[in-house]
Amino acid sequence: QKFVYDFTEGNKDLKDLLGGKGANLAEMTNLGLPVPPGFTITIEACKVYLDSGDEPAELRDEVSAHLDALEKRMGKNLGQADDPLLVSVRSGAKFSMPGMMDTVLNIGLSDASVVGLAAQAGDERFAWDSYRRLIQMFGKTVLGVDGDLFEEALEAAKEAKGVTVDVDLDAADLKKLVKQFKKIVTRDAGRDFPQDPREQMDLAINAVFDSWNTDRAKLYRRQERIPGDLGTAVNICSMVFGNLGPDSGTGVAFTRDPASGHQGVYGDYLQNAQGEDVVAGIRNTVPLAELESIDKASYDQLMKIMETLETHYKDLCDIEFTIERGQLWMLQTRVGKRTAGAAFRIATQLVDQGLIDEAEALQRVNGAQLAQLMFPRFDHGAASVLLGRGIAASPGAAVGKAVFDSYTAVKWSRSGEKVILIRRETNPDDLDGMIAAEGILTSRGGKTSHAAVVARGMGKTCVCGAEEIEVDTKRRRLTVGDTVVEEGDLVSVDGSTGKVYLGEVPVVPSPVVEYFEGRMHAGADDADELVAAVHRIMAYADRVRRLRVRANADNAEDASRARRFGAQGIGLCRTEHMFLGERREMVEKLILADTDDEREAALDALLPLQKADFIELFESMDGLPVTVRLLDPPLHEFLPDITELSVRVALAESRKDANENDLRLLQAVHKLHEQNPMLGLRGVRLGLVIPGLFAMQVRAIAEAAAHRKNAKGDPRAEIMIPLVGTVQELEIVREEADQVIAEVEAATGTELRLTIGTMIELPRAALTAGQIAEAAQFFSFGTNDLTQTVWGFSRDDVEASFFTAYLEKGIFGVSPFETIDKDGVGALVRSAVEAGRATRPDLKLGICGEHGGDPESVHFFHEVGLDYVSCSPFRIPVARLEAGRAAA
Ligand code: PEP
Ligand code: MG
Repeated sequence: QKFVYDFTEGNKDLKDLLGGKGANLAEMTNLGLPVPPGFTITIEACKVYLDSGDEPAELRDEVSAHLDALEKRMGKNLGQADDPLLVSVRSGAKFSMPGMMDTVLNIGLSDASVVGLAAQAGDERFAWDSYRRLIQMFGKTVLGVDGDLFEEALEAAKEAKGVTVDVDLDAADLKKLVKQFKKIVTRDAGRDFPQDPREQMDLAINAVFDSWNTDRAKLYRRQERIPGDLGTAVNICSMVFGNLGPDSGTGVAFTRDPASGHQGVYGDYLQNAQGEDVVAGIRNTVPLAELESIDKASYDQLMKIMETLETHYKDLCDIEFTIERGQLWMLQTRVGKRTAGAAFRIATQLVDQGLIDEAEALQRVNGAQLAQLMFPRFDHGAASVLLGRGIAASPGAAVGKAVFDSYTAVKWSRSGEKVILIRRETNPDDLDGMIAAEGILTSRGGKTSHAAVVARGMGKTCVCGAEEIEVDTKRRRLTVGDTVVEEGDLVSVDGSTGKVYLGEVPVVPSPVVEYFEGRMHAGADDADELVAAVHRIMAYADRVRRLRVRANADNAEDASRARRFGAQGIGLCRTEHMFLGERREMVEKLILADTDDEREAALDALLPLQKADFIELFESMDGLPVTVRLLDPPLHEFLPDITELSVRVALAESRKDANENDLRLLQAVHKLHEQNPMLGLRGVRLGLVIPGLFAMQVRAIAEAAAHRKNAKGDPRAEIMIPLVGTVQELEIVREEADQVIAEVEAATGTELRLTIGTMIELPRAALTAGQIAEAAQFFSFGTNDLTQTVWGFSRDDVEASFFTAYLEKGIFGVSPFETIDKDGVGALVRSAVEAGRATRPDLKLGICGEHGGDPESVHFFHEVGLDYVSCSPFRIPVARLEAGRAAA
């Protein structure tokens, strides 16, 4: 195994081995660009070091061989007293981790070689400045000396001399400073600063390896989802100097604007300085364009190199360069980070320039960036007071007056107020309030809690599980430490970051949503330029994708929006959402019915309402499939809360005026109470034990379809049975449904062509998919319940309880409720697809769990061969884009 590569040996595709910086230094070297010679120690060597605590045995010899070659080439030895070769030792992982790991410059300087350097450069000040920088950087990063000690000494030196910037310190001042710095090292590190240049280099290499595991590097990786076991490469590069006087300098540049994508000169330059001065902001940089008047030859050469890099990488690159006495050197390049908006613009710009094709353009953007562009955002430049932080459940920026119950939310919003609904947690009763509110804030619950799921479905901003916030519904206020927010006080909720602010933080609207809504067309100004780019990329995606995209929607308004956003049907209409509000009492009657007559009367009352709902829905989705799911949740969800009701009844009884209905309700609540309602009487089980319930729903669907047919519409209803575990359940329900449909067809004289299928959301259903397909014309994977039952995780509780610990321990990188668990849940989906299709080759296959709008999951569903994904209306553009990216 080879652990060291000369820059001439690598290339840009070796990032796994050489890290991003090393691979790109090699690429630039081979392009003939001016890169100072050097070599890269591989990530493999780092892994051995991190695993065993020791570097690989061969490493030292390999480094020696490469150092020898470098010394021959440069005509001087590392740290040579009369003319020292100096090197930098820089980290460079596969993924860029800006500023997270260590770098040491000027390795090779010592009490002896500093004199040689001064003579060679003809500049004493420069040599001593370089030496003090080495001791400072080496002391801090390699020997663990407190960096402030050096800073303080430097400040004191400047103060003593009455100057403010370090360039005003002369050689004598710096010489003194070096003495002080060495003392600081000896005192704080318990050892002298090493005078042997090779020892300096070896220690620096190990320090770079170690810096992979600093706390800040670990935290950064967790946030950016970079695996913790990758390790870093180490680049040893011969030094060039930007601090050799006014004809030297250092800078950073972008080949185009990372915010707008526009071509032009973007960057900063700092005369007479080394790289870390730019980053540290020690002195003010000048715009790169000014380099033209400072050093025209270097400027022209740099512009040419940037053009070479852009055409070579076919993308925006960012670079670091140094000019040493009029000679330009390239120290780094990489494909640059950019804002979401710029990603879309740059992709289309590069297509127009003929650098990439449409398929490649699709790979240059992603759904997360599109989602980011779709939400109104807070103006981050504005001043704000942070109240607390929760889970970023549904993105967006919402500002409004704090309200603590749904009734007030509705009342205030009717009178024109913007409100934020703040609850400990929400339940279906809060729906009105949630709809009325600008945003929702809860102190309990995770990403799949009621508040989160419903808010996401509505495209409404939501932060949930903000645990520091104490919600006191009774006194209508919340407290965080000493801060009290009363009803009516303004709060701002950032659903993209999970942060909650006191007062009003200003927001900016999203032109991209305006465009999807059809309220804005591509034109000339800046926002329009972004919209034009999004429009083109979406067109590419739609052209190539194989997956169809449907919406989870249960009312005509959501359905119409979904259609505007590009939905090709409804993949999940949750009918329980049609039984809320005023209709809840009717459901109560159904649940409380003691006799067949009472039950029938309750169902008869519900039938016309359901039918009217479906007529509207079929109309708004005319010509497109609409999957209607029969009632799924446990019935207690339609009844009052057991504790509240018990208290109410007890109080009434003590006053001796208990009302009959409450007593009956309480009885029913007790009867329906289950320890594990999600595993209880719900889904198909309701259809099997409550006579007439599913029949009523099927009749409403059939009659609505017949109505639409008669109105010359094109209804395409699909009836879906939830929570099936065995084909027998499905057969019984189907037999009844087929009969009802036949009756409606006969009565209305229409042929309805309704299909009947099932959700696959229990492990047993997935395992017996071959049998279930005998009775189902389609499957829709309910990956929320499937994840819940495969893992044994309660989808309503885990994210707020132990998921943080699981994420921290690396058990998974992302919640399986957010991104499909390919190895477990995904494997079941894959085998159910195969078994289902084996039984019924024309079986239609979709997925309607929350994963349907998750980028990574969409790629998985494409790969296993589903026909469509279904997601909330606001996720539809994201799903379209990702389906296109998966197919391109
Ligand atoms: C599911 O379980 O994935 C699903 C879509 O159904 P619900 O979320 O309504 O349980
Ligand atoms: Mg489900």
